[in-house]
Amino acid sequence: MVDLKAAIQTAKFVTFLTGAGVSVPSGIPDYRSKNGLYAHQQNPEYLLSTDNLQAHPADFYQFVKSSMYYPQAKPNVIHEKMAAISNQKGAIVTQNVDGLHTAAGAKNVVEFHGNLYRIYCQHCHQSFDYQQYLKSDRHAADGGILRPDIVLYGEALSQQAISQAITAVGQADLIVICGTSFQVAPFSLLVNYAQPGTRVIAVNEQKLMLPFKFEMIQADAQAIFAQL
Ligand SMILES: [Zn+2]
Repeated sequence: MVDLKAAIQTAKFVTFLTGAGVSVPSGIPDYRSKNGLYAHQQNPEYLLSTDNLQAHPADFYQFVKSSMYYPQAKPNVIHEKMAAISNQKGAIVTQNVDGLHTAAGAKNVVEFHGNLYRIYCQHCHQSFDYQQYLKSDRHAADGGILRPDIVLYGEALSQQAISQAITAVGQADLIVICGTSFQVAPFSLLVNYAQPGTRVIAVNEQKLMLPFKFEMIQADAQAIFAQL
């Protein structure tokens, strides 16, 4: 078995690449898993698309409001350990939009797909509290539609997030992939920006098949991180 603790101790800079599996122990369902958010939806990619938001804002709002917000969710041991390690010598690049890495105290976090709890008006770009968004998706002053600052299907990633993620990966001599099958581009392409010789370790309950050299820890991430 790969010794993650020893690998982290000897590394100079650890970059964690995380996905939905990291937040499942906090009670947030994995989008793509069998029991996840998408399991009972006919066309989830359309529901979460910019086309749906523009053409059917009421449907978009209903779906997002009822399926995606877990304001009671708390960071778990994976978030906590990653925060402690990355604050000391590393970074976290996450696909998650739940803000739990930051809630755990992590300072060097790249939210690759945005954050559900940042809300803005599409018309005037004013920021709003998510609690207000959960009451109404309209900006009363100008009639604009409020939306979460997440990357929808059909939208481009933020250039700032891309460059910060590339920097975080390029600095690392150890990359730890956790809670993601690492199949969805462009997130999965980030590893291409690693320096030659960077060690890559994946922690996941299901064995991963990845198109680059890596070491697999096939185990429950919560149990693994609890031991760090
Ligand atoms: Zn507005």
